[in-house]
Amino acid sequence: MNSTVSTVIDNIAALVTNDPSSGDGSPLGLVRDAAVVIEDARVVWTGESSKAPATDNRVDAEGRAVLPGFVDSHSHLLFAGDRTEEFNARMSGRPYSAGGIRTTVAATRAASDTDLEANLTRYLAEALRQGTTTLETKSGYGLTTADEARALRIAARHTDEVTYLGAHVVPAEFADDPAGYVSLVTGEMLGACAPHARWIDVFCERGAFDGDQARAILTAGRQAGLHPRVHANQLSHGPGVRLAVELDAASADHCTHLTDADVDALAGSRTVATLLPGAEFSTRAEWPDARRLLDAGVTVALSTDCNPGSSFTSSVPFCIALAVRDMGMTPDEAVWSATAGGAAALRRTDVGRITPGAYADLTLLDAPSHVHLAYRPGVPLVRAVWRRGVRVV
Ligand SMILES: [Zn+2]
Repeated sequence: MNSTVSTVIDNIAALVTNDPSSGDGSPLGLVRDAAVVIEDARVVWTGESSKAPATDNRVDAEGRAVLPGFVDSHSHLLFAGDRTEEFNARMSGRPYSAGGIRTTVAATRAASDTDLEANLTRYLAEALRQGTTTLETKSGYGLTTADEARALRIAARHTDEVTYLGAHVVPAEFADDPAGYVSLVTGEMLGACAPHARWIDVFCERGAFDGDQARAILTAGRQAGLHPRVHANQLSHGPGVRLAVELDAASADHCTHLTDADVDALAGSRTVATLLPGAEFSTRAEWPDARRLLDAGVTVALSTDCNPGSSFTSSVPFCIALAVRDMGMTPDEAVWSATAGGAAALRRTDVGRITPGAYADLTLLDAPSHVHLAYRPGVPLVRAVWRRGVRVV
């Protein structure tokens, strides 16, 4: 007995496939008056609505737009606590001296496993309602072997894209011995964390980890079977981007302060530049220059950086609107970067596109065009979401 169930979504005004050989031939592969056929968890057919094959079920998109589910390739959702006061002080121009990341570290260490997991699933559900169907998340608020390992264990129950970020900051108890902390991160902690993660990340920045420390950490991670990604050049110029390229990291994240040499290095590599405008928004910092990267031929991803300190948004549509308004991206480029770009930053080809064989991860907008994501900022346009072929919103 064949238990496969097929569904057509037809009468789609604008279908973003991210397949340049489809539709209008642009990078978005935009098909007008389109249909998508899904079978179980996968896409099996796309094309003009009038040519769609017969299926078991039908969903009428009623002239709306469909695009791939967003691929948010950068978040920090294994945390407890809240930093409302810090944000309020920053936005009110008042000095605030409490400990930033260290505030979250203290709350996270004190939280139970149940509370940490409930917090994670709450934000995963929030992201899904806004169209995010693939989400990377990291440790980095435990900073002990046990706390980092449990964060990753919990994350791995909910996503395949799990990143070990023991090298987020040097915790207070190692303030006088940063080399000792690097030894822990590359030794015992790595051994406990590697089985639960796919990626290793380091915050390469003045005040966090320098280029030599970052290289040692990422190299140790690679030897343990993890693949590198790097928090690079967020607050200042530094070695992070070029280190990411040197080590074939999947992504250099932030990329706000770049030299021409950094841009050239990215353009000549397969390392994606992941831009995180929620961070610049929430800290009133200078925007990354997406236009400069795109014009140089760099692959750009757009993600939320969702975390309780510097970017407490799970909304990819919000980031698309910022990228178009303030970072020089066209609406088409921003939508591509939040779908196919995020997939590239995770070295995935089965998400971030609507093509036969890809996962049936789809977002139906309450709008006739994907451009409305930037044109109608702040409006909840996501009407329905399918993940792995199942309608979840
Ligand atoms: Zn981050």
